[in-house]
Amino acid sequence: MPLLKDVRPGESVRVGKINGTGALRQHFLDMGIIPGTEITVVQLAPMGDPMELRLHGYELTLRLADAGEIDVTPVAEKKEPIHAKVKRRKTDHPGLGEGGKFHAKGDGDPLPEGTVMKFALVGNQNSGKTTLFNRLTGSRQHVGNFPGVTVDRKDGAIKGHPDTIITDLPGIYSMSPYSSEEIVSRSFVLDEKPHAIINIVDSTNIERNMYLTMQLLEMDIPMVVALNMMDELTANGGGIDVNLMEQLLGVPVVPISAAKNEGVSELVAHAVHVAHYRERPVEQDLCGKNENGGAVHRCIHGICHLIEDHAEKAGIPLRFAASKVIEGDELVIEALGLDENERDAMEHIVLQMEKERGLDRSAAIADMRYRFIMELCSAAVTKPTESREHIRSRRIDKLLTGKFTAIPMFILIMGLISWLTFGVIGAWLQDLLASGIDWLTALTDEALTSADVNDVLHGLIIDGIFTGVGSVLSFMPVIMTLFFFLSMLEDSGYIARVAFFMDKLLRKIGLSGRSIVPMLIGFGCSVPAVMSTRTLSSERDRRMTILLTPFMSCTAKMPIYSFFVTAFFPDIGWLIIIGLYLLGILLGILAAVLYKGVLFKGEPVPFVMELPNYRLPGAGNVARLMWEKAKDFLQRAFSVILIATVVIWFLKNFDLHLTLTDDPEKSILAVIAGFFAPVMQPIGLGDWRMLVSLITGFMAKESVVSSFEVLYPDNALLAVSSLSAVCMLVFSLLYTPCVAAIAAIRRELGLKWAAAVVLWQCAVAWLITLLVHAIGMMIGAG
Ligand code: GDP
Ligand code: MG
Repeated sequence: MPLLKDVRPGESVRVGKINGTGALRQHFLDMGIIPGTEITVVQLAPMGDPMELRLHGYELTLRLADAGEIDVTPVAEKKEPIHAKVKRRKTDHPGLGEGGKFHAKGDGDPLPEGTVMKFALVGNQNSGKTTLFNRLTGSRQHVGNFPGVTVDRKDGAIKGHPDTIITDLPGIYSMSPYSSEEIVSRSFVLDEKPHAIINIVDSTNIERNMYLTMQLLEMDIPMVVALNMMDELTANGGGIDVNLMEQLLGVPVVPISAAKNEGVSELVAHAVHVAHYRERPVEQDLCGKNENGGAVHRCIHGICHLIEDHAEKAGIPLRFAASKVIEGDELVIEALGLDENERDAMEHIVLQMEKERGLDRSAAIADMRYRFIMELCSAAVTKPTESREHIRSRRIDKLLTGKFTAIPMFILIMGLISWLTFGVIGAWLQDLLASGIDWLTALTDEALTSADVNDVLHGLIIDGIFTGVGSVLSFMPVIMTLFFFLSMLEDSGYIARVAFFMDKLLRKIGLSGRSIVPMLIGFGCSVPAVMSTRTLSSERDRRMTILLTPFMSCTAKMPIYSFFVTAFFPDIGWLIIIGLYLLGILLGILAAVLYKGVLFKGEPVPFVMELPNYRLPGAGNVARLMWEKAKDFLQRAFSVILIATVVIWFLKNFDLHLTLTDDPEKSILAVIAGFFAPVMQPIGLGDWRMLVSLITGFMAKESVVSSFEVLYPDNALLAVSSLSAVCMLVFSLLYTPCVAAIAAIRRELGLKWAAAVVLWQCAVAWLITLLVHAIGMMIGAG
């Protein structure tokens, strides 16, 4: 049988058997790759791997190696369409306003007065969760972390309902957790037992999105379905029979447009209603009795009866437990505590189902769900032929992911962004802020002088705090501008494309395509780079990516480079600077290979990723994100950096007897530097002043140059050999990231890793500089 990986772009095939095992296979099924699905290969990435597929009306990427697990047959004739044979319910859906209410007024089972209602916002990635969450909560948001993992958690009260709390969960495709973020979402729904789920569904991509809805129904928690992006669907001539869909699903369905703020208040009314009256989904039994002989239906119900008592005891929703048991989810089987006999009975039931249905267990369950979804959609959804947004996306993709244009366009876009960030907007704002800080410093200086404040205190405030915190603070505009562009790229859907065409390259060094983003940001500043690794789906990739960011030369090192090359190599300066960047990248690649072999054995996560339509990001989302980053940065500037500044200032201005000294050579810092001197001698950096500069660079790389200027007055610089200058450059490129970056790493990976990064980067810097120094001595450059 031919394999999916051999199908040529433009051709359509039907999925046959899916080989492989475990989580990846389950993920295929959850993403809609199930026997019988029609798949069109859209294109191969410019480097030939991965491939882009179209199925169930959406685009998905898959590596060729993974596509090799999927048998396909050519689509000969159109398969008979699945007709709307879904049964209509006698009961109306629960909710507001309709005649035969699910419960009559007064005889419901409302929550006790004064309960704070907990809502979970659950949906696929790119379904508009963040947009809706911002609409629902306005500015009353609280950003934190889920316990134990660094996945952003956002909570907030719904506007106009102070007695509510809604949590924005990471995007998930199914209740079979695949990434650490998905585990967070699943455990939240299972363990924290929200009073209601708001399930946001992208109505332009409804088949894939409904797969999660089907599983959420099994959770037996009050739920409202929000059909988002209705503006886009209707503008293209599509539509949804909302009432019919409500009847078929048995939960309230509300069409909304989060971006245009349409239908949101109705959604809130329904959500609050179902939560308050504890209206659970009318029906979870979505397996058809007559579907394909009813094997799956009988199996699910059989297992339900078998485990009913266990599920109740374990506090797991019955229907969910049954599906999971059938799929072979070890965690759930474990939690149920079934005995030998029961396990045996279960296995027999499932085997019988597999035999009758002709599909293996996971595929049979996925197939049952997708079958219901197809029926539901054919009955209730009018699809537009092809939406304008999709046509537009395809056009843009021709350029941005085209075989010959993808990489050049990528370089162009990145170049443009760095030019705008570092050259135009950011730099301009930075200058503005810096002069503001200078002005404030001067003002304070004057005030302190006229108030006749003690010299030590004066020095601390002006030379310590104002200079130190100020220099770091002046970087805020650059960082915010950078984040502005990056969030534009991310929300618009471009980053997913970059990951798509860079995957093959990054795979060679043990990472997956998604790691490209943090590394690119790393050339700007390591702090946001480290923070942005949170979007990576695997913990292994995330750690490895963080450890690689220090090799990407950040902009704060630029002043060091330009200072030394202007002084020593004015003619070939730019060559040396480019060389340094390349050296960093090269060593980063070597380090990646090393990490892959030693620290992070195993494969990078399989690359199964959705390529959403290009969309213009909402201004509100972007503004909010920038505000969050700014707040984050300010908090850091006034905590870690403030303390570090004061410490360094103290060490620079006091001698060992703790008396103020004017002679920097006697300062504690110089003593500490003297301590390191023997180590640094062999690499040509034995001079205590160089050491002091490097130590202050730990605070912020920019201070290397300012320290240097203070410590080498007049022409003393001439005493430095050009070989030492080169050594200084190489060492600066590689040695420990600054305090801010280390603090960020600590937050993501913990203290041990942060300390390890400091030591490791210093060791690498030392070794490489030693090599450079030795080569220099050999060719007589000393
Ligand atoms: P999340 O990944 O689920 O958090 O999705 P986002 O909230 O980031 O939204 C993804 C993209 O869809 C963004 O570019 C939004 O501006 C856009 N978007 C969100 N809601 C709507 C909507 O109702 N209509 C349209 N046309 N676009 C939307
Ligand atoms: Mg989001």
